[in-house]
This record gives sequence, structure tokens and C-alpha cells, in this order.
Amino acid sequence: MSIDGAPAFPVTVVGSWPRPPELLKALRARQSGDLTFEEFNAEADKAVLECLRYQDEAGVDIVSDGEQRRDNFYSFIVEKLDGVQLMSLAEVMDHVEDKASFDEILRSQDAPAFAIHNTTVVDKIRRNKHLAMDELEFLKKHTDKPIKIALPGPYLLTRSMWVKGVSDEAYPTMQDLAEDIVPILREEVIALRDAGAAFVQLDEPVLTDVMFRPEVKERTFMCASMAASSGDPMVELTWAVRLNNAVLADIEGIHTGIHVCRGNWSRQDEALLSGSYEPLVMYLLTMRVNQLVLEYATPRAGDLAAFGRYPRIREMGLGVVNPRTDDVETVDQVIAKVEEALNYFEPEQIYLNPDCGFGTFAERPMNTTEIASQKLKVIAAAAKELRSKYEVGTR
Ligand SMILES: [Zn+2]
Repeated sequence: MSIDGAPAFPVTVVGSWPRPPELLKALRARQSGDLTFEEFNAEADKAVLECLRYQDEAGVDIVSDGEQRRDNFYSFIVEKLDGVQLMSLAEVMDHVEDKASFDEILRSQDAPAFAIHNTTVVDKIRRNKHLAMDELEFLKKHTDKPIKIALPGPYLLTRSMWVKGVSDEAYPTMQDLAEDIVPILREEVIALRDAGAAFVQLDEPVLTDVMFRPEVKERTFMCASMAASSGDPMVELTWAVRLNNAVLADIEGIHTGIHVCRGNWSRQDEALLSGSYEPLVMYLLTMRVNQLVLEYATPRAGDLAAFGRYPRIREMGLGVVNPRTDDVETVDQVIAKVEEALNYFEPEQIYLNPDCGFGTFAERPMNTTEIASQKLKVIAAAAKELRSKYEVGTR
């Protein structure tokens, strides 16, 4: 399935964009209760328009709203769900058994302290607003381009929101919580489709944490994943696949993707995870999505040969620029990466995007809008050359 109105080698984004200073001010006012959600959202409208302008100028084909209404890619749902609260680091620490090692994890991973406002389940969850419909409705009024909306994946939400000692009264186990999260996400995907979203992407960055840091059975910072996992990557990944497939089962008429990266909260490369996608590929390929949105601009992610045994099965949202560097990649570098991917994917299966968003956490963008724009322009220029070189027409 292709996306109407998108050319070949479509240029798109993973999600977030750096927030302007006025928006950060409004966000802080919202968090301290000085602005209502509606007042904050009105302020965010301006930032979304600016973000859209940057994408248009750069030549992005499938646009997002830059997650300007979110403080980060998943905790924004605290505004949309009853039974969920933001818990400060101090409150979380009360429930962490091994405080010293938790502290060490935060430090060694260069975790932004402000980000440790964990979205925590404190009661039965119930949706009081759609999760991302406000984002879609506003964007629709201002662009004719296909729209991509990222949603936090069910595994990430379950792992991050269930905190032992706090959540277990409403949900004795994480599995119990997942049973309520899945239908909420499922209804959201259907609503977004019915309202005209072209592409929905489920974010499950925590999957690399499961695979590459199994020795840390307790808690890692990655996505503020506070709850202990089973410690068995196979068990966790199988469960993650099952949850994602339950969200998307039999939903037709919208393009779907899953984004898995190795963390996008620090510019210190050594603080982020590394490792090939190879051990994850067989799990990713059992997910009912059209596209895998993966980072390939950094050597930390291994190489595309991970798909050597499973060529041309899914589309690839190919990460071709690193959102965390000042150096802007060249058009030739991007083309070379795509040509490497052509060993494993058809031209029609390749979408071009940065490795991740440019501003995961509102208070800690990974780049400036200037450099982010330049990087998008390079991707668009590469796409143009690729289209004529491979003579792949508009779909
Ligand atoms: Zn990412």
C-alpha cells in the first residue's frame, strides 16, 4: 500500500521538532497549572505552523506537527487519560528498591533530570480526550500533504506507566494494564484513519533497551522505563509484538509503521545504546505494520545486512541523517545509504527520514531548527536525484 499524494522515495520525519522559546514558556505555565490545556494548545498552534513551514521549505512530502503540543513523545497522554499522573523523580525514587544503582543509571546514561516526570498509572485508566486528534485536526486545516502522526506504542506505555507500589492497586500486573492500553490505542488509530491521517507510527524505542541491556533487569532510563521487565528479551519482545499486533489487527486504510531507535535524549554518543537490529529483525517482521522506521545514519545501529535473510518483506523508513550532530550530511552520503538499502528493499519500499526526531524532550532538543532544516533539505535533494536515477514515478 502506498500513500496517496506522496512521490517515490518520500521524504518524511520521525516526529519531534525543537520547540520555540515562547512554546517552552507556555509549556512550563501549563505544567504549573497557570494555563489551561486549551490555552496551551492555542499557543502551540503557532509553533505547529512554524514547524510546518520549515518542513514545506525543506521539501518534506509527508509532514508531522513536530509534536509541538507534547512535552515528549509519550508523557503527553497524561492530558488525555484519567487515572494517570506525572510523578517526579523524588516520588519515583520512593518506589525504587535499589536507589544507588538507579541513580548510577541516570548519571551514566546522561538522563535529563527534568525528563524524569514519569507518567504513572494511579487508577483505572480512561480516555477523556482523543490522544492525537487535536494534532491531526489542526494540521489538516493547514496542509494538503499527507500527514503522519506518531503514537507511543503499547509496550512502551505499559512498561513506563506501571510502577510497582503505585499502579498495582488498579492493575495487579503490567499485563492487566496492557489490556486497557491496547483498546485505547486501537480506537485512536481508527479515529485518526477516519479523520484522514495518512500514516500512523507506533514508537517503541524501548525494544532496543530490552535487547541490548538485558543484564539490567530492573530499571533503565530509556523512555523512563521504571518497571522491572522479566529480564528475558525473548519473552519481552514476543509480548511487545503481541500488543502491537492487537492494536493494529485488521485495521485497513491507513499506512502503519513502527519506530525503534537506540535513544535520542543525549548528544553523548556513548550514553546511548548500540548494536545491530539483527536480533530484533525477526520480531519486527512479525508486526502487522507496513513500515519499519529505523536509524541507519549512525554506525551504532549496525548495518542493513541485518535484512539480508529477509529481503523486501516490509517498507523501510530509512534513517539517513543523525538528528544529534551539527555536521550536516551530504546529498551523496544520503544517496549512498539508500543505494545500500536497495540491496534489501525495492525502490518503492524506501522512505527517507532522519534517524529520530530533532527534539524528543521539549526541554532538551537534540538540535537547532537551522541545522534540522538543513538536514531535511539534504534528504529532499537526495530524494530528487534518486527519483530521476531510478525512474520511479509518483505512486
Ligand atoms: Zn527514535
